[in-house]
Amino acid sequence: MSIVLGFIFLPTITNDNTELGQNVAQINKQINTVIDDLKEKVGFAGLINQNSVASSNQAGVNETPIETNVQGKTLATTYYYHYDENVSQAVKDQFNQAIKIYNQTGIVKLVSGTGTSQQNQIKFSVYRKTMTTSSLQNSIELGHGGPAIIERTGWGAYTANHAIASLNIKYTNSIKLSVAVHELGHALGLDHSNDIQSVMYPTDQGKTALTDADINALKAIYSSY
Ligand SMILES: [Zn+2]
Repeated sequence: MSIVLGFIFLPTITNDNTELGQNVAQINKQINTVIDDLKEKVGFAGLINQNSVASSNQAGVNETPIETNVQGKTLATTYYYHYDENVSQAVKDQFNQAIKIYNQTGIVKLVSGTGTSQQNQIKFSVYRKTMTTSSLQNSIELGHGGPAIIERTGWGAYTANHAIASLNIKYTNSIKLSVAVHELGHALGLDHSNDIQSVMYPTDQGKTALTDADINALKAIYSSY
């Protein structure tokens, strides 16, 4: 069992963050962006730029990759989700909207509840991580999320995904639908895309609509069930 954490960071300066509050827009202007996920951070000694993200994707430019630990797994399409006790209504509102977006694809079905150990689960949570100049240059981690594959072989064999999706509420910029859609995408098995239109682009672009490539990757993960 392993878990892959993907991170999404605040975009640089120029994005049209019309859905953000005024103070967020002000903060935005003061921040440069560097993006990445945990694997890439480790691989690139903590400093990432968009070129390294793009070059790390071997797939076609428009393809949304699948998280490594989900590849080749047969996963049920139903997920039972629940929130940690300390998750605010504001955060729930964003994740609830994100859930609708994925349910509208008809590929997965996310329902409220805890599920059994043999069923797919998603836990939505929050955390507080302060970014320092030494952790990553000029970037803010907005959230993380990822699948964790549970497998039992032999008699009573099953495979389930016990995933997490979490927002870094140290920064109010994270409480945003595009970040929730991105982290839930990781939870369901989507990896970072180098297509700037994709919700899985590693820097927050404010995208909330799944692209055809995002949907095709979901289909690829869940078609084997
Ligand atoms: Zn990510």
